Amino acid sequence: MLLEHLERQLATREAQGLRRRLRVAHSPCGPRQLIAPPDGSLTAKLVFCSNDYLGLAGDPALTDALAEGARRYGAGSGASHLINGHSQAHADLEEALARFLAPHVPDGRALFFCTGYMANLAVLTALGDAQATLYCEELNHASLIDGARLARAEVVKYPHNDVQSLDALLQQARTPIKLIVTDAVFSMDGDLAPLDALLALAERHDAWLVVDDAHGFGVLGEGGRGSLSHFGLRSERIVYIGTLGKAAGVAGAFVVAQPTVIEWLVQAARTYIYTTASPPAVAHAVSASLAFLAGEEGERRRARLRQRIGQLRAGLAAVLPSAWRLGSSDTPIQPIIVGDNATALELAAALDAEGVWVPAIRPPTVPPGTARLRVTVTAAHDEGDVDLLIAAVRRAAGRLSRRARCEG
Ligand code: PMP
Repeated sequence: MLLEHLERQLATREAQGLRRRLRVAHSPCGPRQLIAPPDGSLTAKLVFCSNDYLGLAGDPALTDALAEGARRYGAGSGASHLINGHSQAHADLEEALARFLAPHVPDGRALFFCTGYMANLAVLTALGDAQATLYCEELNHASLIDGARLARAEVVKYPHNDVQSLDALLQQARTPIKLIVTDAVFSMDGDLAPLDALLALAERHDAWLVVDDAHGFGVLGEGGRGSLSHFGLRSERIVYIGTLGKAAGVAGAFVVAQPTVIEWLVQAARTYIYTTASPPAVAHAVSASLAFLAGEEGERRRARLRQRIGQLRAGLAAVLPSAWRLGSSDTPIQPIIVGDNATALELAAALDAEGVWVPAIRPPTVPPGTARLRVTVTAAHDEGDVDLLIAAVRRAAGRLSRRARCEG
C-alpha cells in the first residue's frame, strides 16, 4: 500500500515537471566539475549553481586545515556538545566568530551548529515560545519556515520586503515578545531584505531582529562580515545566523547574539542538544576560512566576484527574451525567471546539452508561476566562463522562443 501510494505521487510529480533528480559529483566543488547524471556517463560541466561564492570549498588552505584538524582531533566528535563532543576547536571558532561580528552585535557570544538548517530551527523553536510572536517574511528559507512551524509562538507572515505592512502588524502584537525573522539575502531571488528599516522597526516596537545571512556572510560587507556590515548596522537586538558551507567553503553554521540568548539556546535548542557535535576538524577548517575571509585574499576574491556579477547581469539582460526576467539582485544569486515548470526544465536541459549546469528551481521551492534557473556565479569563474554561459543562454532562448512561435 505504501509503495503504491508513493509511486502514484512520484508519477504525479513527474507529470508536473516537479520530480527532482540527483547528480553525483566526482571532483571537488569548483567552476568545472565531473558529473554523473542519473542516466548518463561522466562529463565535465561548467557549474553555475554552487553557493561556494569565493571558490573556497576546494582551496588547499582549507583542505589542509581540515586534514590537520582531523589529525589533531580525530574524525568524529564522539557525542553531542553537552556530553563530550565540545572540543577546543569548536570553542576557538566560537570565540573568533563572536569577535568577527562584534562591530555589529556588540558583546555577543557565538554558538556553532552542524548546519544552517539546524541553527534556524534552534533559534525559532527556543526563542519562539508561547510568550512570543514570530513575524516571518514570506520568502524566508525553508529552514526558517520549518522552525516557525515547530515553534509554540504565534506566527504572522508579512509580504516580501513590505516594511509598512510589518509595522502595522507589529502594532497589533498580542504577545510581550516579538521577533522579526528574515533572510538577509533571499536564497532564490538574490535581493536583500531592508535590514536597516527592519532594525528601526524592531527598535520602535521593542522587538528583536533575527537575520539569516546564509548568502551574505563572507560575500558582503567589510572583511566579508556580511549583511549587517553592508548596511552598517550595530545592535544588541540582533540575533545573527551565518552559515559556513557557502562562501566560507566548509560546513556548519553559527548564531551570534547576546550571551543570555546563546545560553538559552544551549539549554533549550533541541537541534543543538540532541545531535552529535560536528567533527572538530570542521570547526578547525572554518577557523582557517574565517582568517582567509578577513584577509587580503578574501578581499581580492570579493572584488573579483563583484566584477563577475556585473558582467553576468549585463550579459544576461542583453540576451533574455521579453517573457523572461532577471531577478533584481546585485548578489551572486542571479535567477532567470521563466514562469512555467516546463520552460525552466527545457532551458536547463538546453544548457546542460552545451555543458553548462544550472538546475531548474520549481515550486514549492519558489511560488507557482515563477519557475526559474537559479544562476550563481563565483570568484572562481573567469571572464570566459561567464561569456560561455551568456552565449549558451542566448542560443537556448532563441531555440525555445522560435519553437514557442511555431507552436503558437
Ligand atoms: N538559510 C538559507 C537562506 C539557505 O539558503 C540555506 C541553505 N540553502 C540554509 C539556511 C541552510 O543552511 P545549511 O545548508 O547550512 O543547512
